[in-house]
Amino acid sequence: MAWDFETEPEFEKQLAWMREFVQEEITPIETLDLSHDQALAFIKPMQREVQERGLWAAHLPTDLGGMGFGQVRLGLMHEILGKTPYGPVVFGNNAPDSGNAELLAAGMEMTGQEYIRERWLQPLLDGTIRSGFSMTEPETAGSDPRLLKTRATKDGDEWVLNGHKWYTTNGSVADILVVMAVTNPDVHPYQGSSMFVVPVDSPGVDIVRDVGSMDDPDNHYGRFGNHAEIRYVDVRVPGENLIGPEG
Ligand SMILES: Cc1cc2nc3c(=O)[nH]c(=O)nc-3n(C[C@H](O)[C@H](O)[C@H](O)COP(=O)(O)OP(=O)(O)OC[C@H]3O[C@@H](n4cnc5c(N)ncnc54)[C@H](O)[C@@H]3O)c2cc1C
Repeated sequence: MAWDFETEPEFEKQLAWMREFVQEEITPIETLDLSHDQALAFIKPMQREVQERGLWAAHLPTDLGGMGFGQVRLGLMHEILGKTPYGPVVFGNNAPDSGNAELLAAGMEMTGQEYIRERWLQPLLDGTIRSGFSMTEPETAGSDPRLLKTRATKDGDEWVLNGHKWYTTNGSVADILVVMAVTNPDVHPYQGSSMFVVPVDSPGVDIVRDVGSMDDPDNHYGRFGNHAEIRYVDVRVPGENLIGPEG
């Protein structure tokens, strides 16, 4: 049986362009010590170039506003983009925004919450807002989400969140946080947690600091790629900020 590992010539041309673009335009930014705003000033024009070439937001299907490239072409792209921390941002498919967009899309499809598209999904795809994914907690083993302690309780039409998180990547530069919290401690843990969209400017959201990591022990607060410690104290969000069904 023959296995064909060839890439379509048209896409191969795009990959060749990406290699050069990453090498010549994106990688040199790494050498600069940039604030968040300075980084954006470099990144924005490059993002426009990527959009014009039809390579923007390759991770989502076309009906959800992405390029619908599928996993193989996405993998080939990331072999190139992953060489520099700014690569995925310039191409509009960086974590955690890409995973959060997928979560939001899944929630929308499961429950028909069409407002999700206009409110958060499209702005994420357009790169006009940024997100964090807030699951890991300092007091429990992050390897095991069954141990999550952060709680969300229903109060009328709202959810009230209380908890302590860390390693929320991009939390200190985000506009929205996707927070994972226990909504029902009495069922099997696989069914007891839910995810919520929490705008960072909600009262009770306290971005405590950016936690140092092995690759960046002395980080500067509020930059791309940092990992935030966050306290959620009586944070209220409307019922519609629950992504998909409860549990
Ligand atoms: C750079 C970076 C970015 C991150 N970004 C995010 C993010 O955006 N959002 C987010 O929510 N989290 C994020 N995380 C957190 C990440 O998901 C956790 O670090 C990971 O899940 C491991 O959890 P932990 O650090 O609590 O380690 P622990 O779970 O405490 O594990 C410590 C050690 O104990 C072992 N261990 C744990 N439980 C068991 C067990 N039951 N049996 C045997 N061995 C065990 C583990 O294998 C490991 O060796 C990030 C982490 C890093 C380093």
